[in-house]
Amino acid sequence: MKLYVDQDLCISCGLCIDTCPAVFSWGDEGKAQAIEGEVPADAENEAREALENCPTEAIKEE
Ligand code: SF4
Repeated sequence: MKLYVDQDLCISCGLCIDTCPAVFSWGDEGKAQAIEGEVPADAENEAREALENCPTEAIKEE
């Protein structure tokens, strides 16, 4: 699974970073960003939870 954050949709609520800090972090623009490349297997469940709970559906699967 590979994820990215649509920077136009992210409202910087921080939920994804709280839910799955192994994958999500703050980018330079104050929006969330996902790690590049494959989500580590042991973080997949949390990452998917973040994807499903993002209030603006800004997290997308590549
Ligand atoms: S949960 Fe969605 S809106 Fe909130 S910081 Fe993460 S990507 Fe942005």
